[in-house]
Amino acid sequence: MEKSLNEQRFYDIEENFKEISSKIAEAASKSGRGRNDIRFMAVTKTVEPLFINHALSLGIDLIGENRVQEFMGKRDELKLDGVEKHLIGHLQTNKVRQIVGNVDSIDGVDSVKLAKEIGKVSSKLGITSDILIEINIGAEESKFGFSPESVIESVYEMSEIKGIRIKGLMAVPPICDDSVKNRVFFENMHQLFIDIGAKKIHNVSMDILSMGMSGDFEEAILSGSNMVRIGSALFGARNYR
Ligand SMILES: *Cc1c(COP(=O)(O)O)cnc(C)c1O
Repeated sequence: MEKSLNEQRFYDIEENFKEISSKIAEAASKSGRGRNDIRFMAVTKTVEPLFINHALSLGIDLIGENRVQEFMGKRDELKLDGVEKHLIGHLQTNKVRQIVGNVDSIDGVDSVKLAKEIGKVSSKLGITSDILIEINIGAEESKFGFSPESVIESVYEMSEIKGIRIKGLMAVPPICDDSVKNRVFFENMHQLFIDIGAKKIHNVSMDILSMGMSGDFEEAILSGSNMVRIGSALFGARNYR
């Protein structure tokens, strides 16, 4: 019984992967790009290694985990050869030491203080850590991230920090059913991405615009996203125990 349930889930993951991939390709094409211009991140929080490995066997080469502890606990069981790993959740400064060097990018950098800590720990290890800057695009009280208005000033400040490399922006827009409103948040993010890139700040490259999740990745791509973070649409609904 157990086995057949797992097999069903493997099958579902495969079907979901095909469907999402073709939707990504279609949205990419509508926005004048190709499937390979968009990175597909499998968001693996709460998902057991067995199923993550199955997704990786399909050719997914980028995963995102939210929690340091969960990732470190699972990673020995994951087949991570050639797979890029990002930390996408809120990172507390006291956890920086545990994660730097263990992931390829820290995507939710939401304060200068955090960037400084990542830089300090990275420098001590003799490495440079890639980071994305998180923008609170909907100005929500409950969310972390820089405000779109103040971020430029902070980017200049963070560009001076040794041990980090700023690679782009990430955002989680407000939950809304209105796809028109959603588009406005995504368009604003894209504009910010262009504006910061145009300043050609030393040590800052606007390569990655990470936005779009299971419910809105097509809209995000249409607005210029080049990295989508997909959890439940790939693995099924999350089970938070
Ligand atoms: C969980 C999570 C996702 C994926 O969400 P889904 O709606 O399941 O695709 C994407 N980004 C972040 C930051 C997340 O925490």
